[in-house]
Amino acid sequence: MGIIAQLSDVVIDQIAAGEIIERPSSVIKELLENSVDSGANTISLHIADGGTTRIEVCDNGAGIESEDLPLSVARHTTSKIKSITDLNKCLTHGFRGEALAAIASVSNLVIISRKSNDSKGSRLEKIDNQWVCCPSPASSGTNVIIEKLFFKIPARKRFLKSKATEFTHCKNTFLQTALVHSHINWKFNSNGKEILNLPAENILDRFANICRVPSNTLKEVKKSIGPIKIHACFPFSSNEKKLSNKQFVYVNGRVIKNRTIAHAIKTAFEEINHGGQETNIFLSILIPNELVDFNVHPCKTEVRFKDNSAVYEVVYNTLKNTINRPAGENYTNEIINLDSHQKNISDVFATEKINPEIKSIIKQKDLDLENFSGLDEKKVTNLKSENLSSNQIPPLGFALAQLHGIYILAENSEGLIIVDIHAGHERILFEEYKKNIESKEIQIQKLISPIRLELDDDEIEIFDTNSILVSNLGFDVVKVSSNWLSIEGVPALTKNLNSKITFLEIIEDLSKFGRAETYESKLLKFLGNLACKSAIKANRIMTIPEMNSILRSMERTDYGGKCNHGRPSWAQLSITNIDKIFLRGK
Ligand code: ADP
Ligand code: MG
Repeated sequence: MGIIAQLSDVVIDQIAAGEIIERPSSVIKELLENSVDSGANTISLHIADGGTTRIEVCDNGAGIESEDLPLSVARHTTSKIKSITDLNKCLTHGFRGEALAAIASVSNLVIISRKSNDSKGSRLEKIDNQWVCCPSPASSGTNVIIEKLFFKIPARKRFLKSKATEFTHCKNTFLQTALVHSHINWKFNSNGKEILNLPAENILDRFANICRVPSNTLKEVKKSIGPIKIHACFPFSSNEKKLSNKQFVYVNGRVIKNRTIAHAIKTAFEEINHGGQETNIFLSILIPNELVDFNVHPCKTEVRFKDNSAVYEVVYNTLKNTINRPAGENYTNEIINLDSHQKNISDVFATEKINPEIKSIIKQKDLDLENFSGLDEKKVTNLKSENLSSNQIPPLGFALAQLHGIYILAENSEGLIIVDIHAGHERILFEEYKKNIESKEIQIQKLISPIRLELDDDEIEIFDTNSILVSNLGFDVVKVSSNWLSIEGVPALTKNLNSKITFLEIIEDLSKFGRAETYESKLLKFLGNLACKSAIKANRIMTIPEMNSILRSMERTDYGGKCNHGRPSWAQLSITNIDKIFLRGK
């Protein structure tokens, strides 16, 4: 007697559902995307108990005809594509025609829908295990109600976390979809309570709303590079709410998880992320469909790019060139909302212990006054009375005094500037060191006993195609046979690293990202430490010209607004906010 049998449709659906529906938030993702695909301009989500007992999505989109309703919950039924070639033109979220079928197989599902031109709507639900579709009063659009998720699959139910955790997943999914479709009005209710109400707005405003900061404190960049378009927004001050889900990454409007993009973001922000904290970011890439494959997993959250390193370069360079601006340029670092941001203010300033008595003057490397612009000392005092126009006043203003041996107080057209001297100087030195490394030949330290190592075929291929890059990094590597290499010399600066591991890391990174990321970040760390050690320490008494020299250098230095560890190097307290402290005009 044979042992192989065809699985029943019910079991097939439940297995398929396992891939798409992991938890309530996966249902929400599919339903919200269907509503977006329907062309709705208002979509609301209601959940109960973190989505475990009830999920309801209402939209005012195209609606579903009564004869299509039973088909919508059948397996592999879709109105979005007809053949595989349509995938290249597909602009909708859905195309696999399996979400509703999967959801229906693991829950109680009801759909009520009406097309705008129809006078009556229809209702589809399962009665005695049979789908029944009957006329029903309905507003124009579609209303999908899911109850008792996973009640037929207790094993799955046991995997759900607490209602609070599931709620967080639901909220994150809602925000992910609502952010990129910011032209739609979105509402989110949980247990009858309004959680979010996001009227249609542009993406920058919506992201600012989500991060709870004014939109002028966000940096926004839009670029087209070759066939790839990129749009990103991220906060540049320290006042934003750190979101539980920090990165909102989209490819062609779809929420995606992709290592290449995540890596490019991480590397671009590496230099300014304080304490390794990830940044909140919205990042959307538009790329021709033929250069990307979304049909990798039923959830459609994974993508394969035809050219990974091109995507990496676009994301990395666009972000980096936006972040690495000099201090004072192009973004605000205002100490905002004095009442509610007390904590943030102390975060910014309580970074070094204040020693009120300036006892010891630590011997420092002399300041480079060569670049000091020789400002007229008179201009420094009393900007207002001299009536200087704001374009004559540099962004970080002119130094007034040194505070507690740690901060420079300066005056600019907006009000008071406070600069953390060590942080500012540290970045100036760091960028100088980096430039020196780029412009000068890298010193190679010859190894007394060269390191022999055997690579497998694909590693050798990577080495062969990147041998110039490897040698430019300062590695003197000779091929001794088809698979054996000999490392004869290493960069003098990083000679203390384990050369074999470092070299293998470089080969691995070259294969993954097309660049020696891990090594470069180790090198940066080394230079960063050097800069930190050499930068001006607290309690070094400075003259006004020395302070002005620091301010001018910060305005010329890449990443001038942040120290090497991502701390802000300066902050602005505007006259308006100072007036608020003293209740002027009240
Ligand atoms: P897919 O989205 O991949 O096509 P689904 O199972 O999610 O597959 O949906 C099946 C079909 O049901 C869709 O192709 C669409 O025609 C219809 N549909 C589902 N939800 C909606 C909605 N909110 N508004 C209009 N039509 C919908
Ligand atoms: Mg769908």
